[in-house]
Amino acid sequence: MATIAADGSGEYGQGILHRVGIRGAGLRSPIDEGNTTPTVSSRSLTRARRRQLKQIRTFMQSHDLDVTPLTLRIAYEACSGTNPGLVRGIDDRRSRGLPITLEWLEAATGGDASDGGQAVSKLADRLEHGIDELSRATSTVRRVTSQYGDELERQVDDLAETQGTEEVIAGLADFAKAMLARSRQTEEELRASERETALLRENLDRARRDAEVDYLTGLPNRRAFEKVLQESYEKALAEGQPLSVAFCDLDHFKAINDTHGHEAGDRILKVVAETLTSACRGDCFIARHGGEEFVMLCHGVTPAEAFARIEAAREELAQRRMINRRTDKPFGIVTFSGGIADVARYTDPREALAAADEALYQAKEGGRNQIRLAVDPGDSRQAS
Ligand code: GH3
Ligand code: MG
Ligand code: MG
Repeated sequence: MATIAADGSGEYGQGILHRVGIRGAGLRSPIDEGNTTPTVSSRSLTRARRRQLKQIRTFMQSHDLDVTPLTLRIAYEACSGTNPGLVRGIDDRRSRGLPITLEWLEAATGGDASDGGQAVSKLADRLEHGIDELSRATSTVRRVTSQYGDELERQVDDLAETQGTEEVIAGLADFAKAMLARSRQTEEELRASERETALLRENLDRARRDAEVDYLTGLPNRRAFEKVLQESYEKALAEGQPLSVAFCDLDHFKAINDTHGHEAGDRILKVVAETLTSACRGDCFIARHGGEEFVMLCHGVTPAEAFARIEAAREELAQRRMINRRTDKPFGIVTFSGGIADVARYTDPREALAAADEALYQAKEGGRNQIRLAVDPGDSRQAS
């Protein structure tokens, strides 16, 4: 069975409070400072301990402080007088009728017991960053309070078996039980906060994915393409690899919509997306750039190779004879035009996009249903 030594340094004296950073704490009153020799009667020590435990309990309850190592230490420092600055500050606030809040105590002691709360407020400012912090803080605090609660539970059980000084033991047991209950409540609150955080993270991930996906074709959208473009450009330059970009735009698509309706037009867009995706052979990034225009980015693929792939896709589409299922009317020949440039040949990827767009324009001008290569920037510089 565990025992309490006369000077409070026995198993209990160095148990919970020692573990939370209060060495021999709660068991030694400022009144007893310097009087810890065995000559001090155990009766007066008992009284002082009881008084101090009561003060700590009252302090924590009256300021509605959760049971954490930091709040216990603050309560001890405030009640024992070991932190005169803190005591002065508390007196000052009380005299001015101001509340003693956890935030104020943290600021006054330079502590940090509310990582979760801080992270929640950051969440409002910087959502993504805040989510990470809150979830980290939540699991840490939960772990700490859980260990602490287990320890308290053990101590309460042991106390029940301890003989003698019944009053002290009863006081300690009450105090421990009260703290245990609060510790469990804190755990539950943190668990709820963790669940909310997980939900928020899921929503954020989904929103981020949705923001980069084209709802109609399921392809990445222009925003996603622009993100990938810069990275691919830098990689291609670093590796000395070609990086072909191709713009493909449906020919006379407005006429398809006008004849067959917008929904039928949507189905055609899906077919074109699938045709171009298979032309990519899995090693190009393809996105819906907007409207009836698609863009492909092929790393390590020369414009000539990209031309061959896209030309094959164009031919395949032009040979298909699609019928509008709703009306049984044929769509006629569906075609697209394309323009290709090598991004790695330009000093700025936006110049390459402009060059591919210009080549696309030439393809349209040249009669549509065809693919054009942009003039190599080296050649155009030579010519000028
Ligand atoms: P061109 O050969 O010169 O490219 O002619 P076009 O008719 O394809 O080009 P234009 O820019 O005149 O018209 C594009 C049409 O694409 C107009 C617009 O309503 C249609 N469009 C854009 N986005 C969608 C969409 O998501 N679904 C459908 N069904 N139509 C769309
Ligand atoms: Mg078009
Ligand atoms: Mg267009």
